[in-house]
Amino acid sequence: MIKTMFTRTIHRVSIIQSHHSSISRREMSMGTESVVARLKSSGLLQTKGLIGGKWTDAYDGRTIQVNNPATGDLIASVACMGEKETKDAISSAYDAFGHWSKLTAADRSSRLRNWYNLLIQHKEELGQLITLEQGKPLKEAIGEVGYGASFIEFFAEEAKRVYGDIIPSTLTDRRLFVLKQPVGVVGAITPWNFPLAMITRKVGPALACGCTVVIKPSEFTPLTALAAAELALQSGIPPGVLNVVMGDAPKIGNSLLESPQVRKITFTGSTAVGKKLMAGAAETVKKVSLELGGNAPCIVFDDADLEVALKGSLATKFRNSGQTCVCANRILVQEGIYEKFTSAFSNAVQNLKVGNGFSEGVVQGPLINEAAVQKVDSFVQDAISKGAKVLVGGKRHSLGLTFYEPTIIGDVKNEMLIARQEVFGPVAPVIRFKTEEEAIQIANDTNAGLAAYIFTNGIKRSWRVSEALEYGIVGVNEGLVSTEVAPFGGYKQSGLGREGSKYGLDEYLEIKYVCMGNMS
Ligand code: NAP
Repeated sequence: MIKTMFTRTIHRVSIIQSHHSSISRREMSMGTESVVARLKSSGLLQTKGLIGGKWTDAYDGRTIQVNNPATGDLIASVACMGEKETKDAISSAYDAFGHWSKLTAADRSSRLRNWYNLLIQHKEELGQLITLEQGKPLKEAIGEVGYGASFIEFFAEEAKRVYGDIIPSTLTDRRLFVLKQPVGVVGAITPWNFPLAMITRKVGPALACGCTVVIKPSEFTPLTALAAAELALQSGIPPGVLNVVMGDAPKIGNSLLESPQVRKITFTGSTAVGKKLMAGAAETVKKVSLELGGNAPCIVFDDADLEVALKGSLATKFRNSGQTCVCANRILVQEGIYEKFTSAFSNAVQNLKVGNGFSEGVVQGPLINEAAVQKVDSFVQDAISKGAKVLVGGKRHSLGLTFYEPTIIGDVKNEMLIARQEVFGPVAPVIRFKTEEEAIQIANDTNAGLAAYIFTNGIKRSWRVSEALEYGIVGVNEGLVSTEVAPFGGYKQSGLGREGSKYGLDEYLEIKYVCMGNMS
């Protein structure tokens, strides 16, 4: 809570300080008002938590403000919940589990399918809501709705394929079976960078298996979660199956961890918070899935197709202004192509249009708050002080304090802070390397292991390097690899478990062995 109060305070100060760009800010604010009015009239602007199918205020009446990161405008005040509301949400989920888990898979599937249809039907409004509270450009936000909804569609289909096994018995009078059963109540804690997709990637498989959930969205982006929950209610998902509480993160988190009724914690967010949750889950020995921070290397070899490498590097680095866990955090470029690549990359990055996500042609929105900008800038300054060179950008954007210039820094060394930690902003640090072995060594020299990218035309090299990289996801000649049909997750401290794909179901299932004896 101290962390979030700190970031919010700075955020407000930043708005006051940004008078120099007041004209464009005024224009941006007009956008906020009209979008809020439209969302209100469509019923998608919910501000209360959802407990047992009822929209519920915080019991002590407290609220938190949700601001537009591009303008600082207040979008809405939402319920600021804590321990008591979370306990009630857990009880509702626990009660609903009995009924929901006993529905036929086909029944659960058709309700999930209804939810998917409603999400797609409201793609535009949900996209606007994401741009409003998270900042990403509208086209990207609408893309997130399609991506987020795809998990509900995929797991609606997979719900019907949760098969068990029959095992050939070792004794003639025995029959051995394996049943797969839902784990129970799931606590799902999600971040702000994909306000919809990080929820559906968890809730889709959980509900498909027969689990019920208590979702805790980020306090920066609760409105998308609440709108999605409203559509879930409309789709026939029964009260209590999906609950949403937001507010005091540590209190909500601890209530989920302490409750013996919660059988699983699934978390996407920072490695630091993930470690705390993993330790907390030990007390009641809950299942844990963690999708944590990355430090993705993007390796451009001499034999790469320059156009493909450029397109891929731009996409993987600058999507969502660099605020994704699979964003390239280090661009490793082989010496033979270094000058050519950095010059073309610099030209492309110079032309990225920065601004409010609602403005035409904008491809780089604001960062989530002022604290994020401060962090990005401190990493850049640290690299410069240690000998790295700014090739493009390298400072805060003239639009105001939540905007940062798309930046490329050359001559970065893997020991620098910017290459050790997740920058989570629009900054591409470029590291020069000589040999394939050196590239692999640099790429693997980190505690993270989520996504990695390689650009090469060598088939043998593609396989060799893919196998050598200690990462859960490898993109070969491709910068955008996420899809609902493939497993998403990391090695090392980037997490535990996989989301999406057929593997995503396993995280929400218990395996039960049934031995029937004396059958002869
Ligand atoms: P964060 O600070 O860890 O927050 C994530 C969620 O945890 C938020 O809902 C936050 O609530 C909550 N939280 C914070 N402290 C908590 C506590 N003590 N107990 C329980 N919950 C707590 O991360 P973030 O800044 O939102 O997200 C960025 C991070 O997520 C990056 O590191 C990124 O790499 C990672 N990420 C990973 C993946 C992946 O799939 N591997 C995907 C997306 C993002 P409040 O926001 O309300 O404080």
